Amino acid sequence: MRELQMLIDGQWVASSTGKKMETINPFTRRPWATVPYASVEDVDSAITAARRAFEDTWRNTPGVERAKLLFKLAELLDENAECLAHIESLDNGKIIRETKSQMHFSARMYRFYAGAADKLFGESIPMDNPNLLDYTIREPFGVVALITAWNSPIQLLANKLGPALAAGNCVVIKPSEHASASTLEFGKLILEAGFPAGVVNMITGDGTVGAHLTCSGRIDKISLTGGGHTARHIGRNAIEHFVPLTLELGGKSPNIIFADADLNRAVVGAMAGIFASSGQTCIAGSRLLVERPVYHQVCEALVERVGAIKLGNPLDPKTDMGPVSNEQQYQRILEFIERVELQGARILVGGKEGVGIDLVPTDGYFVPPTVVADVSNTMPIAREEIFGPILSVIPFDGEEEAVEIANDSDYGLASGVWTTSLSRAHRVARQLQAGTVWVNTYRTSGAQAPFGGTKQSGYGRERGIHALQEYTRVKNVMIDLSDEARDPFSIRVL
Ligand code: NAD
Repeated sequence: MRELQMLIDGQWVASSTGKKMETINPFTRRPWATVPYASVEDVDSAITAARRAFEDTWRNTPGVERAKLLFKLAELLDENAECLAHIESLDNGKIIRETKSQMHFSARMYRFYAGAADKLFGESIPMDNPNLLDYTIREPFGVVALITAWNSPIQLLANKLGPALAAGNCVVIKPSEHASASTLEFGKLILEAGFPAGVVNMITGDGTVGAHLTCSGRIDKISLTGGGHTARHIGRNAIEHFVPLTLELGGKSPNIIFADADLNRAVVGAMAGIFASSGQTCIAGSRLLVERPVYHQVCEALVERVGAIKLGNPLDPKTDMGPVSNEQQYQRILEFIERVELQGARILVGGKEGVGIDLVPTDGYFVPPTVVADVSNTMPIAREEIFGPILSVIPFDGEEEAVEIANDSDYGLASGVWTTSLSRAHRVARQLQAGTVWVNTYRTSGAQAPFGGTKQSGYGRERGIHALQEYTRVKNVMIDLSDEARDPFSIRVL
């Protein structure tokens, strides 16, 4: 059993109460490490350290210096990708091919924001009155709470930490109680890169610890990746103190195959959308909308390919799908599977036939990849986020109906369009209510491309230059260059 510690003010510490939590390997269902359960005092110390570092050091550290540290961090992350990927796969059951590529992608994110750290330009604004000089400055918020989910701890953190540090903020990070280990290991790289003590702090624990952090009234901004229930809770606390939020939440994303699509690529894209990471991604293309003339063909192709998915040890590079991440997730997904047929849909492959049998010779939380056909968009499996490897296939007739079904959802995170018609691609992309539209691809990312949701998928943007705006506020400076006395009782415009 490894015993992990929290990072507060540049020091590795246990909880002040000595309390710990076990972290479970979902492949074996056995604990493999412990992490501290932060007390209210620990949360307070982390915020105090971040506040002090902001006032004493970080806010006066020039962009070029922040950039150097971020470049160094990216280099260290690339060098340690193998080790971090191993820890993350142990902790959340994601396959090593995916976690390794996420480490390198995260390094790319830090490089992107390193390059931006000395380019936080303000604007010079032309005024009606030539005697008024007006300009803006982009300033960091101060101390930002970064709260992440368990499905991709290091990558979700990079989306937040890169722009937060580049913009000059100090942070308190709280990873998920289900997978904190890779974040804490990454903390070692923060120290090795040379960030001053207190700029980056890490506390661990569950939602109660997260609530202490977000209720404290000593945080200037909160960025959450998590579920809607958590977001509502945090939102209520945040408004008490008027703290701005970035919310990256769940989805029920439509992946739309038109009859004119390259069906081979489309079916691979449909699989990438739902079975990668055992469906535990916010952008999962969990609703596959298929135009009726190719509906049966697509269903048949899916059944054939899904049968070839290799379940197994996430640490084996040949494994395609690992277990789902934790007991809670496992039970929830099984409940969905139980209810599928009661809703009137038809399981084509996977489903309860696969549950309980020896999918892999371990006690891991394995759920078979499952394709459900003849789903109507009103059924619960088409409306609720399952966060597991369950694909709902919904037939449609024509472009108008496709858009109508796609947009008929509480969520609006991502979407996919498969077509060989250029004009249809643009037409549909414009109409979809989602933060991301992929055309002839799915689950493709770039450090430069903004990412985020609409509707109940949240608000604010991560990645790209857009994310820097999330971690800065605009100050306007207006200077009267004239020597004239002014009328004290009227607004000065001209
Ligand atoms: P969760 O909301 O249960 O937990 C997320 C984080 O919030 C954890 O660190 C948790 O400890 C913390 N938390 C819980 N209650 C809190 C409270 N009251 N105050 C402060 N912090 C609290 O979500 P999860 O189960 O870890 O992750 C799954 C959800 O995350 C899914 O809905 C998924 O779609 C979403 N997600 C979104 C994105 C995205 O980028 N949009 C990415 C990954 C996951």
